[in-house]
Order: sequence, then structure tokens, then C-alpha cells
Amino acid sequence: MIDFDPATGTYYKPVDLNDPYLLAQDGLPPSDGNPQFHQQMVYAVAMRTIRNFESALGRRALWAPENDQFVRQLRMYPHALREANAYYSPQKKALLFGYFQSSPADPTEHLPGGIVFTCLSHDVIAHETAHALLDGMNRTLTEPSNPDVLAFHEAFADIIALFQHFSLPEVLRFEVARTRGNLLHGNLLAQLAQEFGKAIGRTEALRSAIGQTPKPEEIDQVTEPHQRGAILIAAVFDAFLAIYRQRTADLYRLATGGTGKLPEGDIHPDLVTRLAREAEKASQHVLTMCIRALDYLPPVDVTFGDYLRALISADFDIMPDDSLGYRVAFMEAFRRRGIFPREARSLSEESLRWEGPDINIADVAPQVYLGRDLSHQMRDWNMSGNREVIFSQLQQARGIAQNIIESSRGYKERITVGLDLDRFPFEVSSIRPGGAVSHGCRGRDHAKATGIHRQDHRRRAYGRWK
Ligand SMILES: [Zn+2]
Repeated sequence: MIDFDPATGTYYKPVDLNDPYLLAQDGLPPSDGNPQFHQQMVYAVAMRTIRNFESALGRRALWAPENDQFVRQLRMYPHALREANAYYSPQKKALLFGYFQSSPADPTEHLPGGIVFTCLSHDVIAHETAHALLDGMNRTLTEPSNPDVLAFHEAFADIIALFQHFSLPEVLRFEVARTRGNLLHGNLLAQLAQEFGKAIGRTEALRSAIGQTPKPEEIDQVTEPHQRGAILIAAVFDAFLAIYRQRTADLYRLATGGTGKLPEGDIHPDLVTRLAREAEKASQHVLTMCIRALDYLPPVDVTFGDYLRALISADFDIMPDDSLGYRVAFMEAFRRRGIFPREARSLSEESLRWEGPDINIADVAPQVYLGRDLSHQMRDWNMSGNREVIFSQLQQARGIAQNIIESSRGYKERITVGLDLDRFPFEVSSIRPGGAVSHGCRGRDHAKATGIHRQDHRRRAYGRWK
């Protein structure tokens, strides 16, 4: 955390969160005018976002390297700019937050002339941190080889911000009571999205997609990254709603004596509590699914359809039994927004799942058995390993994988579906460790807690190159 304000040339004293006085009162109380509270806010939300990533993926997060060198920490500047903006800088490996004098269209929204700090918005901080985490995992997601690539980066950062926001119990209890449990009715996400938009000066794109009737033709017409990204966010939100409805159907039956019609007026506080708990669980599961799917994306040229395939494959690997219909909810929601994978035969779960390679690597490259060699190399990449050690092991593992592919001609031809890699330069951009999955009937909450996952699309991962 570096709290220097270039506009005034001021350094603000850093907050010491280990100060016994602060620990005793659970940190500084919220205060717009206290720069130390701003630092605490940015730190807390960024750490929460990082923790969500790490527990979903089952391993430490790494920041994007600088000239191939290890980057220990992400830098955060709570008062970096005097403008209505906040961004992640891939060059500086830093999050920069702006502040500005508000001039709201509707003066009842903010005090005119009041200062708005983007570093005080949970959603802005989570969004920018998600950009940084995504950049650390996949450097090629900023190369716009098709209209979905940049839109995906933006949409993904919004999805993280919004579902992380939803998983805060206080937010949900309030909203569930206000909308009588019907989260679509109150257009909760659209409202959060607007707050988010206001804080960084854009509202239109999200408002236009979320909570609106899906128009499947839109995906062929919209190319501006934020607007196109809004279609993906809306699809994920629709899936969340379907999951929430599924999880609460029994509660509604109980509360309404089977009629499905709630009586007029406020709903019972006990029902609010139970519905909010289901919404919180559903949000946390959707958030985890969305993060975990990153490991199943092709390394370059990502499309929304690829993301759907990744979501389905990742979830199947960790949760073969989909009794709550999460995967069906995602497939249906994406279909209604016109998002189809280019090459899938149909929109069934079987045809959406990535297939493993149809050859055994040990057969074609017996001199260096890829699986064993690399899993040994990556054994420390878990939740507790040292990031710097993991980083250097990963660099070595990439070199080993590159050599194996270089030296095994038959394998190279077959994994790239008949294309000869001798004629193209290629790069192993990342190696991810995978764990064995227990196919027992464990619940989603167990899977969430352990963060186990398995990568099952090596052919696909190696089948594309840069
Ligand atoms: Zn962004």
C-alpha cells in the first residue's frame, strides 16, 4: 500500500493494522475523511478477492512477472489520480484509485461538490484486483484476437466484484427482505451495478443487459468490450437466479402452504434469514465456479463459448453429481443469451465438456514422462507454498514442457490435431497442477472448502499456440 497523492504532493501515514488498539476494535471505523480508513478498505477487499481466488483454485495466486522476474506484491495506491477512474496497470503491477468532485446528474444521489473516492467502493476494488489476478494467470487475455477477448477481461472482473458483493450476508439480508425473496423483482444486481458504474463513471452497459429479457441476436451485433461483456455478466446472473430458485423452492413451498404465493406485506424474519443464507451460498458457489473455470480456458483466443465449456468441465471434474442443476442453469442461461461454443456438437453437458487427450503421453514421449516429471516439479504449488519458490519452479516446468514437446515429434503432431509444430513457433505459457478428484457423493460446500480440481483438457491446452 503506497499512499502518495501526486495532486497535492502528500504522503499519508500508513495504517498499522497490527496496532493492538486497532485490533481491539476490529480496525478503523468507516470514515470518508480518514485516509487510513481508505487504506484499510482497499487492503481488506483486495485480500478478500485474493483469498476467493486462492481457495477456488486450491493454490497460491501469482502476479504477472516483470521482464520474466518474480513480482512479490501487488502495489496499491488509494489516492493515485484526481479523476473519476480506477485501473490496474500491468506495467506497474499496481492498482491506482482516483477521486473526484461529484457533479451528479441527480443531486440527491451525492452531495454536489462532495468528493467521491473510488477506493471506498468494494466493487471497484474487487474489479481491479480481479484484473490483476487474471493477468497473473493468463498474459494473453489482453490480445484482442476476437471480439470476446477484451470483453471477457472486463466481464470477468465485474462478475467477481458483483458475486463477491452478494456473498456479504448483510447485503443479502437487506435485499431479500426488501424484495420479499424475489431477487429478480428488485433487480438487485442492476442496482449494485449502477452504484459500481457511478463510482467509476459508467453505468449504461450493465444497466442495459442485466435484468432485461435476453435478446440472443445481441451477441452478433455488439462489439464494444464493456457492452459485449455485459451480455456475459447477464448470462451468469441468470444462471445464479435459476440456482437460487432451485435452492429455495422448498422454502417457498413451506412458507406458502404449497401455493407458491406469499401473503401481502413483509415476509417473516426467519424466512428472510433462510432465503438470505441460500442466496449467499448460491453466490459463493457461482463465484467459485467462475474462478475455477479459468484453469480450463484455452491459453489464447478465448471466446465466451470457451468459457461456458470451461465452466461445465471444471464443475464436472469437482462435482460429477449435479443434483442441484448448477450446470443445467449455466447452459440454459448462456443459450438464452445466444452464447454457443463454436465447435461443440450440441448444447448437452457431454458435448460441452473438454475431452482429455486420446493418446497416452508416456507412449509417445517415453524418455521423459510428462505427467510424473511435471507433477514433481509443481508439488509446492498449493495454498501454503512460498510464492517465490513456486514461481521459479513454474519457470523450470515450462522449460521442461517446452523441451518435451520439441523432442517428441509424433506427440507434437497429434496433440495439435495434425498441425506440425516444427513449422510454427510455440510457447508453453503456463503449467497448472491438478489434483485427483474423489467421485464420492460429497457436497458442493466440501468441494469449495478443499479447492481440489483436475485439469482434463491437455490436448486443448497444448493444441493452441502463440
Ligand atoms: Zn476493468
